[in-house]
Amino acid sequence: MKKFARKNVQALEPYLSARKIGGEGDVWLNANESPFDNSYNVQIGGLNRYSECQPKTLIGAYASYAGVRTEQVLTSRGADEGIDLLIRAYCEPGEDKILYCPPTYGMYSVSAESMGIETALVPLTQEWQLDLDAIQANLQAVKLVFVCSPNNPTGNLLQRCDIISLLEMTQDKALVVVDEAYIDFCPEASTVGLLDTYPNLVILRTLSKAFALAGLRCGFTLANKDTINTLQKVIAPYPVPVPVTDIAIQALSEAGLARVKYQVLDICANRAYLQVGLSMLSEVQVYEGWGNYLLAKFVDGDALFEAAWDEGIILRNSPIDNCVRISIGNRAECEKTLEFIRNYYL
Ligand SMILES: *Cc1c(COP(=O)(O)O)cnc(C)c1O
Repeated sequence: MKKFARKNVQALEPYLSARKIGGEGDVWLNANESPFDNSYNVQIGGLNRYSECQPKTLIGAYASYAGVRTEQVLTSRGADEGIDLLIRAYCEPGEDKILYCPPTYGMYSVSAESMGIETALVPLTQEWQLDLDAIQANLQAVKLVFVCSPNNPTGNLLQRCDIISLLEMTQDKALVVVDEAYIDFCPEASTVGLLDTYPNLVILRTLSKAFALAGLRCGFTLANKDTINTLQKVIAPYPVPVPVTDIAIQALSEAGLARVKYQVLDICANRAYLQVGLSMLSEVQVYEGWGNYLLAKFVDGDALFEAAWDEGIILRNSPIDNCVRISIGNRAECEKTLEFIRNYYL
């Protein structure tokens, strides 16, 4: 039956998520998940009725957290669905393209390819910043430009002035989608303040990372009202299950936000611990990271990744030469990982 599938789907390499790769162990630092397993109260009942498409309480709570108006917010099944909706709503197969800047998050290309949309690749510079001249030279037929800050897997922030130049360069031509999946770890770096100035700006957010709710599947797209209305046309009629809204509202309550703040500080402290520890090893070059992960370059990255795997320490190998991405877990997990790497090079 394989041949019945669309040609581009037959050719598609599915996104290899950390979960699919598998592994066995007790230290899971490969999916940028939070080490905090917070508990919630869920009301069982009322599930005979369909959910609201865009639950008002949830939209209100996130708008207030993000500092935007409710008309600028769309909620979906994770930020990943936001990527999908944008491509579906804005790109004409066979005509339009998306542009993205590797090394970066894998879902932009997977989503585009599954819909038969061509991709234009403009690699980041050596410093992992936007190559604005090369982007400008490749904007032909591009409707969406995806950029990611903090960037996954490199961990660095994109320069704000470059994002502004990109927004100006693409005005009336393309939407710029800034993926801020990790922005809660460095909220001062958000581009949210630019939404009212640049109508072509779109921001992706999620509860999967700093909010420790990867299993909930709840994300947000922030954009001007027209863009949100366009996305509303293509979203499923009931994208947000009732219990998801209940839990997300608790996470976004005053108490929930205070807890996130505390947990973010804790994770950032562990990140600093791991960063300093790794930087003391001559076989390792560790890059500054702004999310809940660090990218490190080893003299023998693949071998180190495998050796850690065999010890039950599951990290993420990266497409960048000899680099491994390490999610920041709790202090014990960071200690165990650092100790393993130290001993590996003894
Ligand atoms: C994790 C991640 C997402 C997806 O988040 P979900 O809300 O869980 O779908 C999007 N972008 C980047 C860069 C990520 O790392």
